[in-house]
Amino acid sequence: MKNVAVVGAGLVGSLQAILMAQKGYNVSVFERREDLRKAKLISGKSINLALSDRGWKALELAGIAEDIRAISIPMHSRCMHALDGSLSYQPYGKEDQAIYSVSRGGLNQKLMNLADDYPNIEYFFDRKCQDLELASNTLTFNNTKEKTTEKHVFDRIFATDGAFSAVRMRMQKSTLFDYSQKYLDHGYKELVIPANEDGSHKLDKNCLHIWPRGEFMMIALANLDGSFTCTLFFPMKGETSFETLKTREQVGGFFEKTFPDAVSMMPTLLDDYFDNPTSTLIMVRCTPWNYQDKVLLLGDAAHAIVPFYGQGMNCGFEDCTVFDEMYKQANGNWDGLLDRFSDQRVPDGNAILDLALFNYVEMRDLTADPDFLLRKKIEAKFSNLYPEKWMPLYSQVTFSHIRYSDALKNGQYQQTIMDQVMQLDDIHQNWNEPFVMEKMLALLV
Ligand SMILES: Cc1cc2nc3c(=O)[nH]c(=O)nc-3n(C[C@H](O)[C@H](O)[C@H](O)COP(=O)(O)OP(=O)(O)OC[C@H]3O[C@@H](n4cnc5c(N)ncnc54)[C@H](O)[C@@H]3O)c2cc1C
Repeated sequence: MKNVAVVGAGLVGSLQAILMAQKGYNVSVFERREDLRKAKLISGKSINLALSDRGWKALELAGIAEDIRAISIPMHSRCMHALDGSLSYQPYGKEDQAIYSVSRGGLNQKLMNLADDYPNIEYFFDRKCQDLELASNTLTFNNTKEKTTEKHVFDRIFATDGAFSAVRMRMQKSTLFDYSQKYLDHGYKELVIPANEDGSHKLDKNCLHIWPRGEFMMIALANLDGSFTCTLFFPMKGETSFETLKTREQVGGFFEKTFPDAVSMMPTLLDDYFDNPTSTLIMVRCTPWNYQDKVLLLGDAAHAIVPFYGQGMNCGFEDCTVFDEMYKQANGNWDGLLDRFSDQRVPDGNAILDLALFNYVEMRDLTADPDFLLRKKIEAKFSNLYPEKWMPLYSQVTFSHIRYSDALKNGQYQQTIMDQVMQLDDIHQNWNEPFVMEKMLALLV
């Protein structure tokens, strides 16, 4: 029982392939697209991601964290750009804590190169999974280059074929498989702030830049070449939306009015806006993530979430870590392993979906709200004084390995306390007074 298939050679699939190869399995990885390392960069698809502690833990497990650190840029704080161009900074965590900007393509290539070191991993590109016969564990692929159909039988199958997983679609037809999907009514478009002529960054590269504008926002993360990838998250339809910004004049006017300090750094804005695709954001919940002890969904195939907590990939990587831990606990015995994994992990997938959705409101709206910023300041102070009593929700999600479902519950509890603290008289003047900390202590008891 040593032949394993991984369907989808994205971030999670490539990592899971390495981890299974390290356990001695023969791993066949099937990918719909051509080899990413030979493909040209697709315009408007230069996504960079925020990598944080959960992701790092999995990369350490695979022994490649240091390789990835070399191609990532630490971001210690959010930098908010107000309409008048003024900047305010909010640290993400303690001084030595950061999230890391890394290119999705660069990371994927690195993982594939590392996988090449294992003689027991074989990649099959241009293979689009079309079907899975659950009774016999037979995968059917369309070989898009040769225009042929291939069938392969495996002992175990990991489905890491992303939010529109073909394997999951097949599982949806099996009994007692629950599934739901929802599109966010906001989509996104990638834009760019190029490097200065000397290759340096035009903005502080060690911040995640946010232009919060209430109903929508733009963000920018630094790339190694001195540029920033900007992402405009924006309503798909409605009065001010992708649908209504149709001409170069409309787009130019909108950016001048809404992001004036950014526009001057975006010389190719109009071309980028019209050349790059407008992409949608989908959320997927399903349960169970397994079919018997044969098939397991991991990554976006199991839990596609919106990107506003920077956790989609981190959560997918954590899937791999948790699977590894449970596999080792079971001494490699697969009996019931995938059932137990799914039971444990589904609530965490659901929780991070809820957290990510809420964080959109926080990023686009609340980061410009003085009450919200004060809450964060009070929480940070209390957490510094009593670290064993209070870890801010953002830190629980980003800088810890606390289960997402526990973080969600803790966050809801903390919110009830902070709601009461914010009701204290003249809290904006008094927030630094000792009685505020005493009140929090009393409320916690
Ligand atoms: C704008 C944006 C910003 C984001 N920012 C962050 C962030 O800051 N931090 C973070 O952690 N996450 C972020 N994410 C989420 C992150 O990109 C995903 O969670 C992550 O890429 C999921 O990895 P995956 O391997 O599960 O799926 P994918 O990366 O989607 O990979 C799936 C792979 O399967 C292949 N495939 C698909 N169908 C088939 C088929 N039928 N047959 C064979 N192969 C197939 C695909 O070609 C692809 O290679 C962001 C996402 C978006 C859209």
